[in-house]
Amino acid sequence: MKRFSRRAAMAAMLVLFAAPALPALDVAGLDPGVDPCADFFQYANKRWIDANPIPDDQARWGAFDTVVEGNMRTLIAALDYARSQPVAPRGSPQRKVIDFYASGVDREAIARAGLRPLEPALERIAAVRDVAGLSNALAYLQTRGAEAGFGFIVRPDSKNSARYLAEIVQAGLGLPERDYYFLQDERSSQIRAEYRKHIQRVFVLTGDDATLAGRNADTVMALETELARASMTAVQRRDVDKTYNKTAVATLARDAPGFPWAQHFAALGAGELTELNVAQPAFFQAFARLATERDPAQWRTYLRWHLLHATANKLPDAFDRAHFEFYEGVLRGRRAQPPRPRDVVEIIGGRTGSEPMGQALGMVFVDATSAGETKERVSAIIVNIKAALADRLRTVEWMEEETRRKSLEKLAAMRVKIAYPDQWRDYADADIGAYPFAENWMRAKAFALRRDVARIGQPVNRDEWFMSPHIVNAFYNPRGNEIVFPAGILQPPFFDVKADDAVNYGGIGAVIGHEITHGFDDNGRRYDAIGNLTDWWTPGDARRYVERAQRVERQYGNYSGVDALKVNGKLTLGENISDVGGLKIAYLALKKALHDRPQEAIEGLSAERRFFLSFAQIWRSRYRPEMERLLIRTDAHSPPRFRVAGVVTNLPEFAQAFSCDASKALLSDADRANIW
Ligand SMILES: [Zn+2]
Repeated sequence: MKRFSRRAAMAAMLVLFAAPALPALDVAGLDPGVDPCADFFQYANKRWIDANPIPDDQARWGAFDTVVEGNMRTLIAALDYARSQPVAPRGSPQRKVIDFYASGVDREAIARAGLRPLEPALERIAAVRDVAGLSNALAYLQTRGAEAGFGFIVRPDSKNSARYLAEIVQAGLGLPERDYYFLQDERSSQIRAEYRKHIQRVFVLTGDDATLAGRNADTVMALETELARASMTAVQRRDVDKTYNKTAVATLARDAPGFPWAQHFAALGAGELTELNVAQPAFFQAFARLATERDPAQWRTYLRWHLLHATANKLPDAFDRAHFEFYEGVLRGRRAQPPRPRDVVEIIGGRTGSEPMGQALGMVFVDATSAGETKERVSAIIVNIKAALADRLRTVEWMEEETRRKSLEKLAAMRVKIAYPDQWRDYADADIGAYPFAENWMRAKAFALRRDVARIGQPVNRDEWFMSPHIVNAFYNPRGNEIVFPAGILQPPFFDVKADDAVNYGGIGAVIGHEITHGFDDNGRRYDAIGNLTDWWTPGDARRYVERAQRVERQYGNYSGVDALKVNGKLTLGENISDVGGLKIAYLALKKALHDRPQEAIEGLSAERRFFLSFAQIWRSRYRPEMERLLIRTDAHSPPRFRVAGVVTNLPEFAQAFSCDASKALLSDADRANIW
């Protein structure tokens, strides 16, 4: 695909908007009042944290967030500039995303459109009289981005990763996680009460009187609570065996009777579907039962809510504000709404960049920035870190030859994607343009689903990117056995072409090590070199692995955050294993990279110290209590201070670098994970 050609002019213009780059290592920020051996996170970060309060419109503030905000400014400047300039031809992905953005920042147009973009959906909802009508309305909503009832997705088959498979997954809740419907502590009860008030408020905005809106909110809560009761917990959803249930559509109809499954899939555009993965069978039995047993009037209310919930931040101000006050204010502790362009870019491109137009936004980002020398330097670091893990796989004492050999094959086959795709997504079929914002959004969702449905059963495109280049993150994809590092994260403090190796290996190197190790975490290890879920471990090795993993689970399960909430050692296990293993192999790779060079201290710090400090500083951050509560309950990652403490207490190399008394700075030998 051809990119538009004003790149140089635009890049020059953007320099005006660019944020001052962060130093790759903030030596002035070290706190001499804190003992690095006792609390390394605070030693590396306390000064910065004390001097950088969380902005009112944020739920947390740290190294990641400052880079995110820099990328956001770049994107907003590029989009605002492009709105008034013929930089992107009609029909190009960039033009579509520019028009999408323009419809989002034009609040007057949004106000004028009112609820008109929802009318076709509301008509279908009003027509629900029985389970066939429910399926019809539900399918209409699901094709337009409202995850009512359940989700329908398409991705590579876990056990045949070369082909796409359709999958249905539990969904349809307005609270972040099924536990929120049942937790009995005071704060959780409060959140439920606030959620009920929020639903009522939104129904009032659509014209219901307060009494009716209150009753509607109770109906929604009751139905969602039933769906939640049948849902898997976040820990259960990590079980790759229990969530793999490839099923014939006819069998689903028998196991979860009453709901017209075949017609439903046809309404989603997948009329040919014969088999699919049913991720949570018990949930779908309960769903089908509720679909037939509950009064259609209850379902109409529920569907109306989920339509409004999915679109509220694309609707007139009052809806947007209500949505923000509950989801960002109550649940995340944000005190003020960010400027509208900031919200719009997030809606279009998401925080994860997996939104339908995320990659088109990424094209704008890449056009406006320069990847240059970055790709080469980062590739070299990745090669060294892969080699360091290969050394460990060859030498860890607990592994038998057969598993060792297959592990090495898997590592060698691991694919790497850096900065941005060579082949961009095709947006020819996306009809986005001069529509109200909510309608553009629904059209983008419909485009994404059509595209997904068309490839059910087809060969998997291994070159596809699942994260847009503007995102400050990275990932391992077990079904593709690949690691991916978008351009968005290849910046200070993660990576700086001008920084010394120690700083880059402690920053982006730790991220790279983490993603590579995901291929060998408690779930990742179950997938083979081509991304198939198969059991390729000898029973003895599997047992020894699990024993070691349990130490990690115990270690992190003992950390407690806000309100003395314990970190969930089972939920965060894969991430913690990857943190511990990742930093270790990044360290070994640095040692290799420095092998023949004199290691002079820089800014008074040895290479080893600079490495560990760089690592601790990428995690510098503080969270609002609401946000930390949400993360501890729902996020597979541990809070950042434990991501630092949990790792360094496992590494004798750390104690050595800071001349710590190992018996105090480290876990005991018996408690240390030492998987990789
Ligand atoms: Zn991870």
